[in-house]
Formats: sequence, C-alpha cells, structure tokens
Amino acid sequence: MAESTYTCIICPRSCCITVAGEPDALEVSGHSCKRGLEYALAEHTHPLRTLTTTVAAEGSPLRRLAVQGTAPVPRELLHDCLAQVNAIHVAAPLRMGDVVLANVCGTGVDVVAARDLPTS
Ligand code: SF4
Repeated sequence: MAESTYTCIICPRSCCITVAGEPDALEVSGHSCKRGLEYALAEHTHPLRTLTTTVAAEGSPLRRLAVQGTAPVPRELLHDCLAQVNAIHVAAPLRMGDVVLANVCGTGVDVVAARDLPTS
C-alpha cells in the first residue's frame, strides 16, 4: 500500500497529513480540518503549482516584467511552462492583465502581465 506524507500549507498549524491506499480507496489521516483533507488529496492525486516569473521587457524603463498564470498548472508541467515563458520578450506598452502568452504548454492557462509596463 503506497503511503505519502504532506505538510499542509493552508494555515500556520502545518499539520503533517498522510495519504495511503489505492487510488479508488484513499485513506487520509493527520489533518485537522476539511481544508487540509482537500489539500492533501489534491497534492496526492493532481498537484498544481502557481506560475509566477518575470520576462524580458523592451521599450520601457523596466527591464523585466512580472507575469503570472491565470490559474495553477500541473506540477509536472511547471518546468516546461517556465521554460516557454522565459523564452519570450514583451514590448511596452502593456497593461496589467494583458495576455503575454496564451495556453502555455497546452495547459489552457494564459500568462498575463502582473503590472503595467509603461513606455516611460
Ligand atoms: S489541516 Fe487544517 S488546521 Fe491543519 S494545517 Fe491544514 S488547514 Fe491548518
């Protein structure tokens, strides 16, 4: 029976949660609330990660622009997503929320500007 442990990051209590069993009959222990239960099950079955980074910017006093995904991406694709994002250059002007890369790595998640990119 496979068993994994996760430190819950939902609140500062940091419960150590164990998930064991077969995929169709998982047993969870160590959590103190429903949010922790849901967190551990998600980490065990389909972990997601937030995509945030910066990209090279042109035509602006800012040399790099902070960008973020519109939703989390599968953890196993995070490295590929970051590589695809890091390969792009953006040009001013841009507004916060403008899409700088659509459908990163086929995830359906867009990457958008996290702030305005002014020309001056
Ligand atoms: S299981 Fe609940 S109480 Fe424990 S760290 Fe997670 S959110 Fe906090």
